[in-house]
Amino acid sequence: MHVYIHVPFCARRCSYCDFAIAVRRDVPSAAFTDAVLREWAGWQGHEIWSGSSAVETVYFGGGTPSRLDPGAIAQILERLSTDRPLDPDAEVTLETNPDDVTGPAARLWRSAGINRVSLGAQSFDPGVLAWMHRTHSSEQIGAAVAILRDAGIAELSLDLIFGLPGALGRDWAADLERALSLRPDHLSLYGLTVEDHTPLARWTARGEVTPVDEDRYAVEFLLADRGLGDAGYEHYEVSNYSLPGHRARHNSGYWRRAPFIGIGPSAHSGWGSNRQWNLREWAAYQRAMAAGEIAVAGAESLDPAAVELEELYLGLRTREGVPVGRLPPETTRAWIGAGLAVTAGGRVCLTTEWWLRLDALTAASR
Ligand code: SF4
Repeated sequence: MHVYIHVPFCARRCSYCDFAIAVRRDVPSAAFTDAVLREWAGWQGHEIWSGSSAVETVYFGGGTPSRLDPGAIAQILERLSTDRPLDPDAEVTLETNPDDVTGPAARLWRSAGINRVSLGAQSFDPGVLAWMHRTHSSEQIGAAVAILRDAGIAELSLDLIFGLPGALGRDWAADLERALSLRPDHLSLYGLTVEDHTPLARWTARGEVTPVDEDRYAVEFLLADRGLGDAGYEHYEVSNYSLPGHRARHNSGYWRRAPFIGIGPSAHSGWGSNRQWNLREWAAYQRAMAAGEIAVAGAESLDPAAVELEELYLGLRTREGVPVGRLPPETTRAWIGAGLAVTAGGRVCLTTEWWLRLDALTAASR
């Protein structure tokens, strides 16, 4: 079982972000804890547990979970591990923004059970960070890494965004070099997409911003693939790289279609062919939880063809690909002939160039 907890609070909205967030100067940590623990209680006895007993990973995502009172994180983890056995080597991740990382906070996170931190760096260029409306400075990224290591956080991941508008003059190679100098265990690299209802969408609609062209997007994607590969990182999923033995186990659970419980506003849950998702807005979610109602906003059951397609799509995003038998032989032959895929150990895997197209296609379809 994998558990995701969506913490929606942010200090301000980043220019590209369309996530379900609530901008708050003061984070209502007690109200949040109360709401998510009520929802968690509602999951006990659910059929989702029929095939899984222990929790293998917990992921606090957002929003900005590092803005939550560390005591709230401890309280939530304590309840989870009281109600359900947590694997002795469970991966417990906290997404953080660099400006929230202080020595005392990091030590409290560690003692609460956090053993992996995903740090939202995005760029080391001060002009780019300002354009993105990020709340942290470039220097705070390196400082946060040092503090987290000093506090005993075993696993560190950095998020970076590529494919920025050319007019920003962002030096992607320099950003990759800065990231590598910190030697994180894991890196997630996401291409910038223009999402509706964001400042970036407005700037683009007004002609003030021209999105990156396909060529530059490809150059940056392939530069990262080569540069990180040379530095010893494995490109194990379209957007993810790790040092050997440091893959993200939580996300790997999604790609394997393991059962997952999503708690908090907008969180999704899935098991077998079932999918459901929560009310998107924090206020509505909190009201429902306080009134003893359910937080579910919608649900669907995938038919066998949709399940198969999902397995195929998720499998092809990973370095392991899918078993040869999952694709018609003529498709596999055509893909190999066109240099889009290779077979190894009875599995079909997409090449990096085809991953690039998959990434661009996914970005375009969002
Ligand atoms: S901190 Fe993350 S979740 Fe919050 S607005 Fe920025 S990108 Fe979105």
